[in-house]
Amino acid sequence: MGKSLMIVDDSATMRKIIMRTVRMSGLEFERTEEAGSGVEALEKLKAGPIDVVLCDINMPEMNGTEMVKQARQLPNCSGTKIIMVSTESAQELIDRVIADGADGYITKPFTLEKFQEKLAPLLN
Ligand SMILES: [Mg+2]
Repeated sequence: MGKSLMIVDDSATMRKIIMRTVRMSGLEFERTEEAGSGVEALEKLKAGPIDVVLCDINMPEMNGTEMVKQARQLPNCSGTKIIMVSTESAQELIDRVIADGADGYITKPFTLEKFQEKLAPLLN
């Protein structure tokens, strides 16, 4: 069965760039969703399981680190792979969000190769 992807970022332009990078990387998803905030992302995750989530950190309303914590409380999300995509590059922050339940971290600006490296193992 095809995998589903959700891109969470408060910037619509960045969501488009990420979506295009995913497509260019040759990774195939059967269904793709977008969310503009952590709150919207959690609503979508509650509605049904999503295989892979690419999640920004700096967002109004609810940031990505809080979203990860709350997503990990949802029964729907036990198998969801959450990869953070952020300009934040402090190792302490990266370690904390991984400890809180994120499965990986990509720093912006990112490359096509980075997406392939981080996402391909999740699609097997
Ligand atoms: Mg942002």
